[in-house]
Amino acid sequence: MDDRQEDRNQQTHSLHRVGAEDIERLRAVYRSLRGVRFAPTPWVSLKDLLALLAVVARLKSVAAFGFLDDDNEGSIRQLREALINFGLTTILTPEIWRPSSSYLEGFPSEIVAALEQEYEGRYPRNRKSLLWVTCDATKSSAIKNVVRNAAQVGHMLGYPVCCVEQDVAELKRDNRAIATAVMDAVGTDPEPQAILNVLRNPLPVESSLNDNLIRTDERFPFVFHAACNECLTSEESQTAALNAAYEKLAHEIDNALVTAMRRMAPLEAAIQRIGYESELHGLTYETLSAGTKQKLAALNANCRELYLSLTSIGRE
Ligand SMILES: [Zn+2]
Repeated sequence: MDDRQEDRNQQTHSLHRVGAEDIERLRAVYRSLRGVRFAPTPWVSLKDLLALLAVVARLKSVAAFGFLDDDNEGSIRQLREALINFGLTTILTPEIWRPSSSYLEGFPSEIVAALEQEYEGRYPRNRKSLLWVTCDATKSSAIKNVVRNAAQVGHMLGYPVCCVEQDVAELKRDNRAIATAVMDAVGTDPEPQAILNVLRNPLPVESSLNDNLIRTDERFPFVFHAACNECLTSEESQTAALNAAYEKLAHEIDNALVTAMRRMAPLEAAIQRIGYESELHGLTYETLSAGTKQKLAALNANCRELYLSLTSIGRE
């Protein structure tokens, strides 16, 4: 039985095992951590909180935090301090190193080396720290493999195989399309400097930017991954099953958490949709219309309000 199979079995078996004692422990964790800032936005903070609770409940074997913040070592260490009292194994690592030179088997080594060099220049390593939390101490070497890009993070985090595979296929397609465009531009005998010059200008490559994450928030607001196209068009998918399991967990801990997430999901989807449409049209925040900026500000304020009414100390 491979790790993925084992993770899936663990998920399915444990769905019915959250007993009364466990619920009390989960509620204690929830009460003490719900005001903790896990991520820069209210929505991701709530999702991260739920992911942590799913690890405590053993519905999920590993969760990881810190993906959205740069230079976050200080705040991630604080988060670690807050989590350490709950008997969970925590591991602090650098961010996952997944350069745009991945998946380029068969391409000339000069092209791969130039892409690596360009990527390292653009995205200096170790800007981010990640905090991994697991209920299974044997996972630590597997986590280290994920960080050095020797294994897929999505499998480690218990995401459905179909969704991880779509994500990997798109990344692979994008990386290979860029390398192909570079080869077309520099010809058969590429000089390293010529390759770098090509890379510093826009390339005629269509990216596989998609709105799956937005559609996932609209349809399956309690899962932690972006669902694949197939999961998004089915009620019987693994994503649908995970969504039901995590919603049930949230409901058992605090129904107000379910209500806040259900209300916030369409607001967050609308915020993300504005960003997605802008990116499709090559717009940045500065070039948005005044009306759109106002709408964004109102949506963000609504999310913050929902978040604070749920998480502020003194509720209950
Ligand atoms: Zn899927």
